[in-house]
Amino acid sequence: MTPLTKRFTGKIALVTGGSRGIGAAIVRRLAEEGAAVAFTYSASTANAESLVDKIRGEGGSALAIKADSKVALEVEQAVIKTIEHFGALNILINNAGVLGLGTVDEFSVEAFDEMYAVNVRATYVAAKAASRFLKQGDRIITIGSVSGQRTGLAGASAYSMTKAAIGGMIRGLAHDFAARGVTVNNIQPGPIATDMNPADAPYIDHVIGLIPLGRLGTAEEIASLAAYLASAEASFVTGASLTADGGFLA
Ligand code: NDP
Repeated sequence: MTPLTKRFTGKIALVTGGSRGIGAAIVRRLAEEGAAVAFTYSASTANAESLVDKIRGEGGSALAIKADSKVALEVEQAVIKTIEHFGALNILINNAGVLGLGTVDEFSVEAFDEMYAVNVRATYVAAKAASRFLKQGDRIITIGSVSGQRTGLAGASAYSMTKAAIGGMIRGLAHDFAARGVTVNNIQPGPIATDMNPADAPYIDHVIGLIPLGRLGTAEEIASLAAYLASAEASFVTGASLTADGGFLA
């Protein structure tokens, strides 16, 4: 899609988990609209490098940072590296996430802790690290999930907990950042076609049956909402969890 305007010219963004899926779509969208974009990844080096090449090839500015969200220090360093490279940070997008499934009798406590570290703790760590630098008009956006409100299947108690936690966290962060004019919001995607939720998965017909619009969403549709929340047009929106789910929660 071609954006109507370049709303983010002069802005610096950091997207966690930007090498693939929804995060990569957000990176592309912010860069198309003029932002200089840093993003983290943990394993997908080739995807990360090709995304940087693509953005730079189109005249944009991008930086890939290898940083495992399970490790708090690496998340903090990603914030610092973004500022060292681009000189500031205006838009922090906490997107990196993992989906671990298993019913309570089989899902291990170690897997619970690992998913919590990526999906929840890293979001708090990044916001804390960025709090020293964000100022009037800047943005924090998290990627939660409809799973924070409706689990819908067995085996997703831990994942749903992580996404519900994000909804609570951003309400508190919205208060913490309000005095300096920084907004904090959460996007709750419904089922989106990505590596995490492949369009050819065996369960996908069941999932599509739960979506009134009758299809999976696209990563670009989530990037579109992220771009709105990151823009000046969303200046009175804070502490909100906004859903883009084809009606899954309706
Ligand atoms: P993908 O699995 O397609 O992509 C995940 C991204 O996060 C990759 O860039 C991956 O990079 C990165 N990532 C994963 N683990 C880590 C880690 N430990 N440290 C740093 N980066 C990491 O997932 P989606 O794009 O589908 O999901 C993005 C977000 O959206 C997640 O928070 C997910 O929970 C949420 N979501 C997704 C939905 C869906 O249906 N797809 C629905 C609702 C919410 P790398 O490969 O380098 O590790």
